[in-house]
Amino acid sequence: MNIRIGNGYDIHRLVPDRRLILGGVDIPHSLGLLGHSDADVLTHAIMDAMLGGLSLGDIGHYFPPSDPKWSGANSLVLLEQVNQLIQARGWHVGNIDSVIIAEQPKMKPHLEAMKEKLAHTLHINQDQVGIKATTNERLGPVGREEGIAVYAVVLLFRG
Ligand code: MG
Repeated sequence: MNIRIGNGYDIHRLVPDRRLILGGVDIPHSLGLLGHSDADVLTHAIMDAMLGGLSLGDIGHYFPPSDPKWSGANSLVLLEQVNQLIQARGWHVGNIDSVIIAEQPKMKPHLEAMKEKLAHTLHINQDQVGIKATTNERLGPVGREEGIAVYAVVLLFRG
């Protein structure tokens, strides 16, 4: 088989006094995401999808939260490493599709910048990176603005 598919999911808690970084883009907001790294939940879900596509486990295995080395890490740097990992095995990202689930803030003004950063990091075109955003209709923890969740799917091809 010369194509494979992977899916990823991540959620991080929204707290005061943290930055809100999604797809490497710093988004102005009263709350930010809590995490050991920069807590870029979008980039994390994409990395898990890339690793999952090749049955390589998850990002916790490669960048354990117990390792102080990853404290405050720029997730785009981690993404670059995951990309190198799959490319070393002869695989490339065909396309990504993702959904950010957040009540606030509005994501639409930032989606193009996120696509640009992710595409640049992965050395692919912006039209290979799909990012959608939706609210959770005020339902559950995401609906109460306690966190932001992301689902991602990645197609990998061998070439
Ligand atoms: Mg995470």
